Amino acid sequence: MCGIIGYKGKDNVIEVLISGLKKLEYRGYDSAGIAVKGDTVQVIKSVGRISDLEEKVNNTKIIDTDMGIAHTRWATHGEVNEDNAHPHRVGKITLVHNGIIENAEELRNQLMSDGVVFNSNTDTEVIAALMNSYYENSMEDAIEKTINDLRGSYALGIICDDSDKLYAVRCQSPLILGISDNGTFITSDIGAILNYTNKYSLLGENEIVTIDNNGYKIIKNGKEVHRDVMTSDLTDEDNDLHGYSHYMLKEIMEEPVLVNNLINKYSNDLDKLPDLSKYDSIHIIGCGSAYYAGMIGKNLFEEDGIKVDCDVASEYRYRNIIYNDKTLVILISQSGETADTIAAMRKAMENNIDTLAIVNVDGSTIAREATYKVLIEAGREVAVATTKAYILQVLILSLLSYKLKPDNKYLSDLKKLPQQLNVLLDRTGYFKKLADSIYKRNDVFFIGRKIDYAICLEGSLKLKEVSYIHSDAYQAGELKHGTISLVEDGTVVFGIVTDDFIRDKTISNLEEAISRGAKAIYVGTENTKYDDQIIVPKVHSKLQPILVVPVLQIIAYYVALKRGCDIDKPKNLAKSVTVE
Ligand code: GLU
Repeated sequence: MCGIIGYKGKDNVIEVLISGLKKLEYRGYDSAGIAVKGDTVQVIKSVGRISDLEEKVNNTKIIDTDMGIAHTRWATHGEVNEDNAHPHRVGKITLVHNGIIENAEELRNQLMSDGVVFNSNTDTEVIAALMNSYYENSMEDAIEKTINDLRGSYALGIICDDSDKLYAVRCQSPLILGISDNGTFITSDIGAILNYTNKYSLLGENEIVTIDNNGYKIIKNGKEVHRDVMTSDLTDEDNDLHGYSHYMLKEIMEEPVLVNNLINKYSNDLDKLPDLSKYDSIHIIGCGSAYYAGMIGKNLFEEDGIKVDCDVASEYRYRNIIYNDKTLVILISQSGETADTIAAMRKAMENNIDTLAIVNVDGSTIAREATYKVLIEAGREVAVATTKAYILQVLILSLLSYKLKPDNKYLSDLKKLPQQLNVLLDRTGYFKKLADSIYKRNDVFFIGRKIDYAICLEGSLKLKEVSYIHSDAYQAGELKHGTISLVEDGTVVFGIVTDDFIRDKTISNLEEAISRGAKAIYVGTENTKYDDQIIVPKVHSKLQPILVVPVLQIIAYYVALKRGCDIDKPKNLAKSVTVE
């Protein structure tokens, strides 16, 4: 995955590209580069963050130009260095790429036997070389022939030495067109261009876009295609830190308001949500935190009496899945562009199975293609580690479960939730103090049973993502079957205890760890004897995770802060994983 931005028009090209890259940096941030075209093509690349590229660009004399392409990389093929950074230039072709070319080695060997010399180890340079070999005088033809040879995923922004036009094409990786009075953009995410325009068009697979001074043209199989121009209701404001030191903290603090918004929208109008009662088996699919949100959903729907399987998308897509005609597949993805989740959705669709998308980005592939969609309405989530989107995914699952089995207590507790969340998040002093006792540890465990175990999974992931402390979640009863051998003096063990039915069992497991030297941090709804305890208000069991996970998110944040980590852009990660 990576971020692509391209522009042709009257605005300052360098400013468009660099400001766009900064907003796309969440998609990948190991290296970056730009190419601009005037009388010649000028390429500038750099390893590291966009700020490193910006400094290099500022120290370089830039040619007169009205168009360019830019890229922030998350390496899939070839190590992180300047040669492998994009744009890649071969002969007359210069391009940026998001995706993975699966037959790159085969194509590379063919091209090398034709005498092509490669300067990088990337699959992307193979595309540039192939296109250059096909190029005679028509770029449309060269692009068409090239994509016919490619297997895998790609979004491409392309310039050719002989042409004043900017070209683009996509398959499986995201790329949209941005349209303003001053010019035309290509971008992986509308957020990158919101300070220029909120008008955009979606691009279908293998539609070739040609952009010139008069606008753009979309062609598929030689025929012109018309795509609606849409207006995004996101604003550039969504990118502002609003005084917070990090997006992660800002986004956690937005949770009460966003939870309130969704409650207002759905609590009195459940008809707006799909009815799951006609299904007797549900598969919930996601990756990372979205999968863990799904694990919460599994617990909720099972309590409602429906059989649920929850799976990571990268496994589900390749397994032999047993469907029946009353199976529903729920796809959870913040971006709606997660490659593995898209593949899982298409597998279900090929089997004529209904699909329900729970996504944040309207117009995304999953939002468009699923049978039903419910938007979580989180606004833009900038921090790479998700917080607010996860909470809203869980809230939607909880509302769907309530719709299956309504009860009055749920509704009255639901209305109190935003205020309770507000009060809880206000206890920052206490969370900071706890973080002080965690940040020097090497290992942290989270234990819980049933839905509390699902909460542990997300708490543990958040901590390791942002603080780089090794952490694991265990079903409380399972710890003693092996992992307890890792517990030593001072090992932090979080005990998550919200389910009354198994409360005493989990407490016993926490005691087993304490007997072996563990430092226990209890998170639950009842007061205990433990020195370190976080008591959250007791609410309907279908809502309880929404009051517990934010606490774990904020502790993870403060631990990472104490450790001096790059909280919003943890190393090796990217937000929207659009490659397999
Ligand atoms: N596969 C390409 C590379 O490794 C593109 C990766 C990306 O999408 O950032 O350079």
